[in-house]
Amino acid sequence: MVEMPLIDREKCNGCGLCIRVCYCQALVLVDNVVTVIETEECGWCTQCEAVCPTNAISCPFEIVIEEE
Ligand code: SF4
Ligand code: SF4
Repeated sequence: MVEMPLIDREKCNGCGLCIRVCYCQALVLVDNVVTVIETEECGWCTQCEAVCPTNAISCPFEIVIEEE
């Protein structure tokens, strides 16, 4: 299963900001609520979470950088 951002449909106001920042077209508006399309292209950049004004998006993945 691909890890993808989670959307709280109750909080999404359909502003589309997250769609604009996502470089992999993983986010689309359906009935004015963002829906996530599962894709291997999601780079877990967390930009969608960062720009969302209503905290409707959460990225449940953690990027761990290991030191050599
Ligand atoms: S984490 Fe980045 S690549 Fe993945 S859906 Fe959000 S904006 Fe798009
Ligand atoms: S930025 Fe947030 S409120 Fe705006 S469309 Fe995306 S999930 Fe919905």
